[in-house]
Amino acid sequence: MSDLTLTINGQSITVTQGKTILQAAAQIDKSIPTICYHPHFTAPSLCRICVVEVEKSRVLVQACSRECEQGMVVQTDSPRVRQARKMILELLNSAVDLSAAPEIQQLMQEYGADVARFAEAKRREIPLKDDNPFYLRDYSKCIMCWRCVQACGEEVQWTFAITKAGRGFDAHISTFFEKPIPESTCVYCGNCVQACPTDALKAKREFWIERGRDVSELVRHSRLEKRNRRSEK
Ligand code: SF4
Repeated sequence: MSDLTLTINGQSITVTQGKTILQAAAQIDKSIPTICYHPHFTAPSLCRICVVEVEKSRVLVQACSRECEQGMVVQTDSPRVRQARKMILELLNSAVDLSAAPEIQQLMQEYGADVARFAEAKRREIPLKDDNPFYLRDYSKCIMCWRCVQACGEEVQWTFAITKAGRGFDAHISTFFEKPIPESTCVYCGNCVQACPTDALKAKREFWIERGRDVSELVRHSRLEKRNRRSEK
């Protein structure tokens, strides 16, 4: 593969063809914020927090998925970029409970996001799903980054227990036909929980420890649930 040269924030850099703007920026220690992007997965390009300005492009482009081009001139922190990121964070905060997402909260501070800007907006309010012995699903905290679906599917586990369902504001992560987790193909590998950036997916054990509850009680509780499920069949 051949090399190409571009400019990022006034600094010239040579990278191998095929590198993204995000990767090129990291090479010269210019940090670009990401949320939906996971370094081990294909960039889903969903959250748009990594947008940057590219000379001669009328629209902002996503650094996580846009490949570098010869002679490209990129600004990663211009006023236009900062304004866009601020708006994205404000919109996200208007609809989702971000209380357990410290990295996003930190970005909100850094970009001066106004938490009250869309105070009247409809919020994602979904009851906590507690249907299996290992993890809880709190989709009120879900930002639809898709990382759990990627981890469950072809990026890691090849289990395909969860996917995207619904449209627009009602789009959500679901098992097929909204079945409870024990009736899905889930193998409880925990990869989705690890990949979730907002604690929408949380190990039950961790949840109980945080609340000062006795973990042995959780084990008893899970066994009882399992027995009840079997007797219902
Ligand atoms: S549950 Fe977590 S990982 Fe899955 S889409 Fe929602 S925020 Fe992303």
